[in-house]
Amino acid sequence: MLQGKTALITGSTSGIGLATAHALAEQGINLVLHGLMGEAEGIALAESFATQYSINTVFDNANLMDSQAIIGLFDRATKIMGSIDILVNNAGIQHTEAIDTFPENKWDAIIAINLTAAFHTIQKSLPGMKANGWGRIINVASVHGLVASLNKSAYVSAKHGLIGLTKAVALECAEQGITVNAICPGWVDTPLINNQINEIAQQQQVEFDQAKYNLVTAKQPLPEMMDPRQIGEFILFLCSDSARSMTGSALPMDGAWTAQ
Ligand code: NAD
Repeated sequence: MLQGKTALITGSTSGIGLATAHALAEQGINLVLHGLMGEAEGIALAESFATQYSINTVFDNANLMDSQAIIGLFDRATKIMGSIDILVNNAGIQHTEAIDTFPENKWDAIIAINLTAAFHTIQKSLPGMKANGWGRIINVASVHGLVASLNKSAYVSAKHGLIGLTKAVALECAEQGITVNAICPGWVDTPLINNQINEIAQQQQVEFDQAKYNLVTAKQPLPEMMDPRQIGEFILFLCSDSARSMTGSALPMDGAWTAQ
């Protein structure tokens, strides 16, 4: 059912986005790969996916802080691939600091990349999805879309906003065969969290692996990081026909973090 459809996964050069790209490619889904990666390296990545999975691929390194670059990405991607059937808004950044000194430029970047970019990509994807009467939009939020933690004001605000956007667009598209969901992971083993682990290692004078364990267990009852592949397979399920009635949901995969 999904074979031959086209997915755009923002931030698919690393972590959760890259794992999701593999999960979708295995089903014969064509891919628009995207992320902050040099052109040559990105093209090589796209070619390796095309060869490994016999799918069509294209790579774009649009900076999601720049709305014109997002428009350019869509113009290029739709010209080469046709419409975007599956949109995974995954790219994100983090900065942890108390609100008192939180830098304005970090606030602006986190809101732009983690929230406003999804507004732009959804707006550009919907005409094609509506014309086809089918679409899947999956926004990678976080447990921090549901609850807060210390020193993450911008990230928590953006992720709560992303869940709000998910609900609003789900309502608007409910009669058009388009589902819109947010997923809310707990700790996932990706480069995004390395700064936080290094800070703990320094503060607590422990090795990286011990700091990682301490970070996970401070909030998450399940004492292990998720593999990015688990999130990719969750996203694949949301693309499936079995999930066609799931829309407007904020779905945790969080080792009981938000059960408390
Ligand atoms: P990552 O750092 O491994 O990957 C981030 C991706 O976003 C990269 O491909 C990067 O190039 C891209 N990106 C960053 N800034 C960009 C910009 N300005 N323009 C274009 N692309 C940009 O991170 P990850 O952990 O895989 O995170 C993916 C998503 O999952 C994020 O939205 C993050 O908030 C969310 N998330 C992660 C965790 C976790 O524990 N790792 C938990 C919950 C939610």
